[in-house]
Amino acid sequence: MSASTKYDVLFEPVPIGPVTAPNRFYQVPHCNGLGHARPFAEARNRGIKAEGGWGVVSTQEVEIHPTAEVSPFQEGRLWDDKDIPYHRMTTEAIHEHGALAAIELVHMGHHASNRSSRLAPLSAVHMPVDSIDPVNARAMDKKDIANLRQWHVDAAIRSMQAGYDIVYVYAAHNMSILMHFLQARINNRSDEYGGSVVNRLRLTREILEAVKDAVGHRCGVAFRLAVDELMGADGIQAREDGREIVTELAELPDLWDVNISDWSNDSATARFQPDEGYQLPYTDFVKSVTSKPVVGVGRFTSADKMVAMVKKGQLDFIGAARPSIADPFLPNKIREGNLDLIRECIGCNICVASDNIVAPIRCTQNPTQGEEWRKGWHPESIEPATGNEQILVVGSGPAGLESALQLAERGYQVMLAEASDQPGGRSLKESRLPGLSSYKRVADYRIGLIKQHRNIALHLGNKLSANDIHETDISHICLATGAHWCGNGFGRTHHDEIDLARAKLAILTPDDLIENIPSTSNHNLVEGIDPASSVLVYDDDHYYMGGVIAEYLQEQGFNVTLATTESIVSGWTVNTLEQEKIQSRLLSKNVMLHTSKFLSVVDGYSVELACTYGGSSIQSDFSAIVMVTSRLPDVELYKQLQKLLPTDALNQGSKSLRCIGDCYAPSTIAAAIYQGHQYARTFGLGSDSYSIDYKREIIDLRE
Ligand code: ADP
Ligand code: SF4
Repeated sequence: MSASTKYDVLFEPVPIGPVTAPNRFYQVPHCNGLGHARPFAEARNRGIKAEGGWGVVSTQEVEIHPTAEVSPFQEGRLWDDKDIPYHRMTTEAIHEHGALAAIELVHMGHHASNRSSRLAPLSAVHMPVDSIDPVNARAMDKKDIANLRQWHVDAAIRSMQAGYDIVYVYAAHNMSILMHFLQARINNRSDEYGGSVVNRLRLTREILEAVKDAVGHRCGVAFRLAVDELMGADGIQAREDGREIVTELAELPDLWDVNISDWSNDSATARFQPDEGYQLPYTDFVKSVTSKPVVGVGRFTSADKMVAMVKKGQLDFIGAARPSIADPFLPNKIREGNLDLIRECIGCNICVASDNIVAPIRCTQNPTQGEEWRKGWHPESIEPATGNEQILVVGSGPAGLESALQLAERGYQVMLAEASDQPGGRSLKESRLPGLSSYKRVADYRIGLIKQHRNIALHLGNKLSANDIHETDISHICLATGAHWCGNGFGRTHHDEIDLARAKLAILTPDDLIENIPSTSNHNLVEGIDPASSVLVYDDDHYYMGGVIAEYLQEQGFNVTLATTESIVSGWTVNTLEQEKIQSRLLSKNVMLHTSKFLSVVDGYSVELACTYGGSSIQSDFSAIVMVTSRLPDVELYKQLQKLLPTDALNQGSKSLRCIGDCYAPSTIAAAIYQGHQYARTFGLGSDSYSIDYKREIIDLRE
């Protein structure tokens, strides 16, 4: 028997109605873009979480009826008996490792536009759907209400038949009809289902009771509730109606799963909620109102904090979506005392973005996420080496660190050379920007493990030339030399360089600024530029960098204007649920925003911003422009080596030369990590990068 530790409390079994969770680690429902379209991948993805020690593993949202379906998004589906077998694959994969399987049943009401079923959406009242689809939802009459109760019951029974241990009733994220009924700002019905809190929660109560009657003898019935919408009096508030709802229903569910709404608040990025446990101020009252177990979330990764929360009586279960994505083996690592092996979530929401772009889940920290079934990747194991080759990895950004680490895990001898005196590349550099400090975890986690490997030699301050590399006797070269921001405006809008010949103002890139950040004095920030002068940030990139640079410069005392070719600021961050928060923050910091504008003329200190739709232009003087337009790969070394290395040996495979990460094609940090991982996984296996190297789930052609 293992010796007791201070973390034992996290491994106590906890009853949930008629079932018992083996420990307090609870993977709350989260989307993964696999769902009903990719059932094998779904089952494997959830099964690995159970293998990693999560005591409860939940599905994502599971649609219970075609009156609320969110196609083209790939969530779960349990419309009729035909869907039971694929769910059974998931429950079996979870049960194989002794965990409980939970299913989040949902009717999304006016959050769904029913693009596939073409049925009219339902809601508490007549109103437009959440999306900008030109579709209205219909106010539910008494027959609809009776139907909704029955659909929940039918789906709960099917869930039980599929083997689920916990069945959810769901009123969170502003994405469920039950939540819409709870919201005073929406539910102005004049019947017994609208008006007072007791009336507004009547439908939820009826459904909870009906589901308990139907499956409560075999399954725990969980209720997921957003106790606060962070909208003040305009929304549900933890101190007001949120508390009243919990008090009214206190002992009815077997488990309370509580969070804050909407999804952008529940899954807040580290940029906007840097602290672990950021939801507790809203959710920790729940335990004082009910005797039933409570699960809550808040990007928990610290074992000590988890213990403290349980001991203080704030939560019974450590809920996690993102920490379980970044590290499916987090519970086992805590149990085994391997805290330094935990791959901590960085709060970037690339995982969330994959759902929003209708792609299979991916994660910055965990490149195996979503690849468990189709590529057979396991987050904690990798094929052993097929030979005894030595590999030189050049560059220790995310791509270089991941490839070096995984090659070493496989047993290869690795030399990792880094020009700078600190490893980490862009993850380290960008972590100096406001709100991005957690990006350093990408480097820290990998460097920590690299130091434990005797078969990696890390050489810092070692900028290698093509000749240096040629002169080593290492046959296999992996270049991870990164990329640089263009200073000439080249990007999506300007396929040619912008004419800057008459410019007198300084032309800078994010690289120029980030390099100077360690010295916090703004005098060093941009040499020769008056710290109080006006600076233009020109964003044709649309991810986080333009907005972050604007925020940073404003904090440093500059007078900042952000112009973007998109109609909103940092447009792609809609997918990471940050866009509205970024635009609001910049406005609150008095950054001047010009949307739908492109840089047309730069003359002296004067800049003309033209309207992308042909409207009027704006002209202003600036002392500098920061070009956030696009990045180009640093491939010089690759080109030189191609000339130096013997073609025969490269063709025969006795030598190899590969570019990975940003120096192959600049993209997200997640993509660089993924490529580094892919390179290491496939090294020596002779796979070519354009072969279809994953299994596909082909539609069964029987009707
Ligand atoms: P990626 O995201 O693809 O990992 P990064 O830009 O984060 O790329 O990292 C690239 C790293 O490569 C940087 O830390 C840089 O200092 C290093 N580097 C670039 N050229 C060389 C070189 N010739 N020798 C050693 N290190 C290099
Ligand atoms: Fe965390 Fe980012 Fe991974 Fe999501 S993608 S789990 S936020 S590290």
